Amino acid sequence: MNHFPIFVSLAGARVLLSGGGEPALAKLRLLLKTPAAITVFATDPAPEIEGWAEAGNLALRRRAPEAADFTGVTLAYAAEEDAAQAARTAALGRAAGVLVNVVDNLDASAFITPAIVDRAPVTIAIGTEGAAPVLARALKADIESRLPAALGPLARIGKAFRALADALPHGRPRRDFWSDYYGPEGARAFAERGESGAQAALQDLLARHMDQAARPGHVAFVGAGPGDPDLLTLKARRALDTADVVIHDRLVTPTILDLARREALMINVGKEGFGPSTSQDRINALLIEHARTGAQVVRLKSGDSTVFGRLDEEIDACDAAGVAWHIVPGITAASAAVAAIGQSLTRRGRNASVRFLTGHDVAGFADHDWAALARPGEVAAIYMGKKAARFVQGRLLMHGADRATPVTVIENASRPDQRVLSSTLATLPADLTSAAMTGPALTFLGLAPRAAAQALPALHKELA
Ligand code: SAH
Repeated sequence: MNHFPIFVSLAGARVLLSGGGEPALAKLRLLLKTPAAITVFATDPAPEIEGWAEAGNLALRRRAPEAADFTGVTLAYAAEEDAAQAARTAALGRAAGVLVNVVDNLDASAFITPAIVDRAPVTIAIGTEGAAPVLARALKADIESRLPAALGPLARIGKAFRALADALPHGRPRRDFWSDYYGPEGARAFAERGESGAQAALQDLLARHMDQAARPGHVAFVGAGPGDPDLLTLKARRALDTADVVIHDRLVTPTILDLARREALMINVGKEGFGPSTSQDRINALLIEHARTGAQVVRLKSGDSTVFGRLDEEIDACDAAGVAWHIVPGITAASAAVAAIGQSLTRRGRNASVRFLTGHDVAGFADHDWAALARPGEVAAIYMGKKAARFVQGRLLMHGADRATPVTVIENASRPDQRVLSSTLATLPADLTSAAMTGPALTFLGLAPRAAAQALPALHKELA
């Protein structure tokens, strides 16, 4: 960003413009919308400029500007069609410490005039730093067509109401009030009953939002499931429908995020395996900060928030701050992954228990009861297990696990790009490397996809 956008107050300011042709006229048409005291220097001014001078809208000097003319000037435009003259004006202005725009000369200009959408007091400035004036014009046309024509008067009426709206608490209640007014409500009231309609709408909205502001904030810890939006619970859907703020992890898919209330503030606090992340303290602080404004906060975690989700730290933070919360359970990755391979997490005669393990924890690769896990028939669902595959393999073999123990890795369970890798303890690290998985993956120790598992006895039979 070479050019920093600012809005300069021209009330009581002096603006100097040199030039009397078409480029000068273009700038003057804009400048005349401001309260600036404008002085035009032109030896041969266009008739419009003479007209404006006669009407007292600007002062006209029929000569080139001199150094003394720049005293007390806020902005200057070198709008001469002759480049040498423009350069002379620009040099005088610069010497006097005045910001000078040289028309059609980006490099020589201390500031540039953006494309402007004017719904005063709402003004939208679009700049491309000279890179794409056509794009700026296209954007301007697009924005022009989208903004209601009444935006100007609505903003003026709104501005006069600001002091009354300050009765609402800071933050979300006040923001919501204004976004309702500048949303459909204000425009509709103005269209139907003009200025008094808009004023009445403001009064009604204020009363309604004062009631709402009395409502305390709340945090819902919602499990978003493994990625398929159809695997969201109805409670999760409802929580997303009514959320003011959604604070979500990286693993929550865009299709699910799209289901959140359109006006909800979406905050990504994604944690990336070993990569960059928002600190847990920051996440806790965000929950409290938003809940304290009265917001209905949805803390959206992938799968089930009670599984490897650092949920307790966030609950503790809510409790410490006196913020109310509840948990909406979700479908954990292990449930989706085991469904993908047509197996059961537990099976009579095979395994009467199943363990949910994490491949790594804060200290690095996580330690477990390897001797127990190495026993035949054990089933474990390993979360965050890709990087730890070689470590897990080494520990299990060291504790006497069978090298032929089936291991299955399910990547992107329940999503369109789901992949199943059927492996064994002996070949797991090599198989994972060649599969080059980039999505979230769940590793099952002791489970093979049903079809492969059923083929095994047949294979044995053949070998026998
Ligand atoms: N709370 C989540 C787990 C968060 S830990 C849950 O209950 O599922 C993140 C790990 O979950 C990932 O590293 C991966 O092992 C697993 N995971 C999450 N979504 C997954 C998916 N769609 N497919 C496979 N594994 C997934």
